[in-house]
Amino acid sequence: MHLPTVQFTTAQHEFRQQVRSFLQQHVADGTFRTKCDAWLSGSDPHFSKIIGEAGLIGLTWPTQYGGQGRSSLDRYILTEELLAIGAPVAAHWIADRQTGPLLLRFGTEAQKQYYLPRIAEGICYFAIGLSEPNSGSDLASVRTRAEKVDGGWLVNGAKTWTSNAHDAHYMITLVRTGPYDPQKKHENLSQLIVDLHAPGVTITPIRYLTGEHHFNDIFFDNVFIPDDQVVGELGNGWRQGLAELAFERSGPERILSTFPLLQQAIDELKKRGDVARLAEAVTLVADVWSLRNLSIGVSKVLEEGGDVDVTAALVKSVGTKFEQKVPEIVRLLLDVYPRLDADTPLDRLLAQAMLHAPGFTIRGGTSEILAGIIAKGVVAQ
Ligand SMILES: Cc1cc2nc3c(=O)[nH]c(=O)nc-3n(C[C@H](O)[C@H](O)[C@H](O)COP(=O)(O)OP(=O)(O)OC[C@H]3O[C@@H](n4cnc5c(N)ncnc54)[C@H](O)[C@@H]3O)c2cc1C
Repeated sequence: MHLPTVQFTTAQHEFRQQVRSFLQQHVADGTFRTKCDAWLSGSDPHFSKIIGEAGLIGLTWPTQYGGQGRSSLDRYILTEELLAIGAPVAAHWIADRQTGPLLLRFGTEAQKQYYLPRIAEGICYFAIGLSEPNSGSDLASVRTRAEKVDGGWLVNGAKTWTSNAHDAHYMITLVRTGPYDPQKKHENLSQLIVDLHAPGVTITPIRYLTGEHHFNDIFFDNVFIPDDQVVGELGNGWRQGLAELAFERSGPERILSTFPLLQQAIDELKKRGDVARLAEAVTLVADVWSLRNLSIGVSKVLEEGGDVDVTAALVKSVGTKFEQKVPEIVRLLLDVYPRLDADTPLDRLLAQAMLHAPGFTIRGGTSEILAGIIAKGVVAQ
């Protein structure tokens, strides 16, 4: 692994302080309550609009599309602060993290001009339409198909596990726009922008262990998608989708989903002066620090256009196991009674972390699949 060491500049430290103060003020004002896994399960359109108005969505995008033209390290800092405080960013998260960069790279000028400013305002959300009932790890086998008709495409099929589709306006949907050949599964795949309120789209909830509604089944019954909603090149959907994966896998959201719990536990142990248990908890701090340095290094290489697919897979694999370990260790260190409706932050955060943790090593590619990618990468070197 060759990852650069990154030193944040004084301006970047100042930016971090500004973002932190802004978020702390909103907690103090009661705009939101700190939550674990808030980037996927804390959907709050009101808060998305607040941070859109503050210029904190689309941070790296060109100003002509509503962005701020800042560096990806600035975005890294912003993302860390949002996750560390557990801010409810789920509504716009996918659009900011994935859809914007995808459209900037592959979208038409009209798509960029229409969607990007709305995303940056915090009023337009996207879902990820990849997984299907029989296509998860083996994603290239997707069967949802789009047939050419006059002026566009007719989509039929189903997607599943689609996070926040019930709140989203659109979904980047991977579909088959030509025949399915099991020997050439990666061919004839394309990405379409599907309006989730279009006639023929049915969205039904899949409930979490907690009873909460975060993800969905989506069914398409002759859904018409106009030609101008194809993203990039027809048949190039697999390559375009892969280009997003390194960004999706290596970010701080693969390390910090349970950080609000860790922070709360350490604060509690400090308050109690419990040195023995603090000594246990700080091993988690060492883990988070090392993982963070790896993740920042990957972010820097990505900014410079380098190839870090294997390292990004490694960060995701090790980072998500760390996120899962946090509630396991915290519940042994402190007398807590985990309940989702608890008033005590520690009890509430532990319940959220325990109940959401099983999904961390599944979403975005399972640990087994990542192990395969890493192993092949090592062999290829
Ligand atoms: C919280 C959460 C949010 C999600 N959000 C979205 C979303 O917004 N959009 C979306 O499209 N998808 C989403 N997903 C779906 C996720 O991407 C899939 O669950 C994941 O890719 C695994 O696919 P699968 O569930 O079909 O499992 P399968 O692929 O059936 O795998 C089942 C088990 O077999 C193992 N396995 C499979 N193939 C191999 C192999 N070749 N070698 C070794 N082991 C293997 C897997 O590791 C896993 O343990 C989400 C999932 C979760 C948990």
